[in-house]
Amino acid sequence: MRLILLGPPGAGKGTQAQRLVEKHGIPQLSTGDMLRAAVANGTEVGKRAKAVMDAGELVSDDIVNAIVAERIDQPDCADGFILDGYPRTLAQADAVEAMLAKRDLKLDVAIELVVDDKALVGRIVKRAEDAKAAGQPVRKDDNPEVFDERLREYYKKTAPLIGYYYAKGLLKGVDGMADIDAVTRQIDALLDQKALAAQ
Ligand code: AMP
Repeated sequence: MRLILLGPPGAGKGTQAQRLVEKHGIPQLSTGDMLRAAVANGTEVGKRAKAVMDAGELVSDDIVNAIVAERIDQPDCADGFILDGYPRTLAQADAVEAMLAKRDLKLDVAIELVVDDKALVGRIVKRAEDAKAAGQPVRKDDNPEVFDERLREYYKKTAPLIGYYYAKGLLKGVDGMADIDAVTRQIDALLDQKALAAQ
């Protein structure tokens, strides 16, 4: 199964991706995590991405497309993967489609976590507080100022993907304002329906 989780920052994509990893045994491919690892390791990509990420803007399509193209060829992706935070632009959506087509593969579904923007900044602030309380590093972009820019980038560049996947018949929406377990149940139910339809 190859699926995309779509939604603005703070919608719960990472949390739901982790649950899908446990349930389906396929990896979560988070371009945000991969870029943060590149920054932490001081790689060339990390050096190019750092300032852009700190400002809440999007890293260039070429960089993230190359990272994903390399990652999906790893053996653990053979049975599928969950794309979390990628694609984020129409150019990335076209790129992933081409990458998959080249390998005779395709996406099964794009799941949109539908959320109320007003709740998001509160979630981001809480994520930063929770990380701090747990003694974990706090993301530099998890603060209200940078969050505004991240949300603007989402509406400008990523939200058009909702129409893109709708037009391809791949879009499914779930209520991302429900509690975490209820969101998981909605996702499970729609994946079960898809599996049944494919039989
Ligand atoms: P995330 O962890 O998904 O919120 O991503 C954190 C930051 O990494 C974003 O604000 C962007 O700067 C960068 N980033 C992550 N994924 C992408 C992507 N697919 N395209 C461009 N930039 C990305």
